[in-house]
Amino acid sequence: MPLLAMEGWVLKGIDYSETSRIVTLWTREKGKVRALAKGARRLKSPFENALDLLNLCRFQVIHKGGNSLDLITESRVVDAYRGLRNHLPNLYAAYHVAELLAEGTEDLDPHPDLFEGVHETLGWFSKEAPETRIQGRLSPEASWVLIQFEFFYLSQTGYLPNFQHCHACNRVPTPKTAKWTFHADAGAIFCEECYGTQVTHSPHLTKTAAISKSRLDSFFPSSHPISPDALDAAGRLGNREQCAEVVAEKIRQELRALLNHYLTWLRGRRPKLIGFLGG
Ligand SMILES: [Zn+2]
Repeated sequence: MPLLAMEGWVLKGIDYSETSRIVTLWTREKGKVRALAKGARRLKSPFENALDLLNLCRFQVIHKGGNSLDLITESRVVDAYRGLRNHLPNLYAAYHVAELLAEGTEDLDPHPDLFEGVHETLGWFSKEAPETRIQGRLSPEASWVLIQFEFFYLSQTGYLPNFQHCHACNRVPTPKTAKWTFHADAGAIFCEECYGTQVTHSPHLTKTAAISKSRLDSFFPSSHPISPDALDAAGRLGNREQCAEVVAEKIRQELRALLNHYLTWLRGRRPKLIGFLGG
């Protein structure tokens, strides 16, 4: 049985026996991995705080193969993101990132670029300057960092919608074309003339997304209105190289609402921390 070295985060954990826990790791090398941590519940755990949620750790893991759980033999903290722990809004944003990774990626499907994006984002939330932090809610800067990450996450996992042009007639949004509709089912936008006249079908709607959609309240709409200005910003997000400049407050709020809608639609339920991510 091979012993593997991995670096990543603990996304969640459940007690397994009197002394052990099963943890979900998200690693650079293997993506999402479920593993057994023997002795993790003991008072003098061999892991100490190296299995705490969202600590970046180096793990030694015995890969069992087949249906057996992997076994963590060692874990060491690389970055505890200490600045996250004393500011609840940023910690909630980090938990939201963890939820996206836990629920929106498959087991053993690594995304090395997304890994770097997560590390940068958690690092930013941890190191945000005290003077820009706002008591009780995410600062506009932190909210914008989170939105940029979420677009990048969608592009890395293959769920970034097409915001460039109308799905039906290819018309490009301009400030003069006022009414646009994002359609989650199609993963695309429609101009005013085409919306409602076209059969919408997603080219990238997977079976998982279709099943989670069926769990949604049947009144949850697939469509969401969006302005040309917000579409312009959305079209430039999703690509980390193409660093999008800070947008106006109104557009940021519109993008937040769009993400809340689309992530809810993709998962089949509201992400747990959506209420804490600001408007
Ligand atoms: Zn059109």
